[in-house]
Amino acid sequence: MKLHEYQSKTIFAKHGIPIPKGRVAATAQEARHIAEELGGRVVIKAQVLVGGRGKAGGVKLAKDSIEAEQLATQILAMEIKGLPVRKVLVDEASVIEQEIYFAITNDRGARKPVIIASSAGGVDIEEVASKTPEKIIKANIDPLLGLREYQARDVAAAMDLPREFWKDFIRIAAGLWEVYQDTDATLAEINPLVITKDKKMIALDGKMIIDDNALFRHPDLNEMRDTDEDAPAEIEARKYGLSFIKLDGNIGCMVNGAGLAMTSMDVIKLFGGEPANFLDVGGGAGSEKVAAAMRIILTEPHVKAVLFNIFGGITRCDEVARGILSAMEEVKPRVPMVVRLVGTNAEEGRRLLESAKMITAETLADAAQKAVKAAGNAT
Ligand code: GDP
Ligand code: MN
Repeated sequence: MKLHEYQSKTIFAKHGIPIPKGRVAATAQEARHIAEELGGRVVIKAQVLVGGRGKAGGVKLAKDSIEAEQLATQILAMEIKGLPVRKVLVDEASVIEQEIYFAITNDRGARKPVIIASSAGGVDIEEVASKTPEKIIKANIDPLLGLREYQARDVAAAMDLPREFWKDFIRIAAGLWEVYQDTDATLAEINPLVITKDKKMIALDGKMIIDDNALFRHPDLNEMRDTDEDAPAEIEARKYGLSFIKLDGNIGCMVNGAGLAMTSMDVIKLFGGEPANFLDVGGGAGSEKVAAAMRIILTEPHVKAVLFNIFGGITRCDEVARGILSAMEEVKPRVPMVVRLVGTNAEEGRRLLESAKMITAETLADAAQKAVKAAGNAT
């Protein structure tokens, strides 16, 4: 789950990371009032869950509260990368001397968190990373020891950060590490972390991604969720506790178990098809969950065939079959459906589905080929 800039920065501040004074506004009038409070010179920033707002015209400086209101009107009417701007952050404007990139994220390869830092931060950080990778400093963090002070100092040195800012940087690094750990984040990013003209170091922007699988222990963070960016099908799936990710292909997939779901997608691709989604109905899924999953898959107009790959263990194939049947009463399937059921109560499951006129398959390879063929015939 992504957090907005204003949400991320509020969390940063709780952990001692300096942020500009400011507040979020939903109307231009509110933006003007906040600007008045802050003394006029402010920056108006679109709060949308995508990067590159600055380049898209969603971050603008105002010299006084009147201009703040005008700019807020403009920005609140914008759509950035398809997302409507519903709120703006009004922050005291900073006079910037240097922009630094600083983030902590997961390094899957190293199986450890990693600090990523660069003295060439700001809106062109992707270009810095591709053209001058030597300007990107990385240091892995031992998850048991946590971020050590010497590591932050090493990073500061490697970035050629002026000595006078090392102390601030080390404190901010410790704060960001706390943020990353306490919130179960997969990304905590400050870009830019700036040095201002009056020699202060502040987090001007903030971005956080929280691990969805850890949200159950962060009800306060879960409440911050903004569903604007999610596909409707994904929101619906979340309600039923289904892991669902929409993809671009035309073969709907319903599988139990994440590993088996990924394997099924690979096998579909192996035989020349493209999956329309990743969907793990989970272990021990009952008929209600299965029915919800089917509704979600079948409401996608581009789905031309559906593949069910159920490996019964704790999940009982007869329960799954009942779910399929009850879903079929609600959503009349308009596409061919291929089903492979093996394991617990598979016989019973197959018998139940006899009336449903589904294409049956014995093996995954067989099922995938039949689904690819069915989808091909449909288009
Ligand atoms: P992003 O484009 O979505 O990453 O939004 P940012 O919050 O990072 O803002 C983009 C850029 O706008 C920053 O890299 C700065 O160069 C500039 N910017 C943001 N806030 C201020 C400010 O208070 N003063 C000045 N002078 N520039 C700012
Ligand atoms: Mn930024």
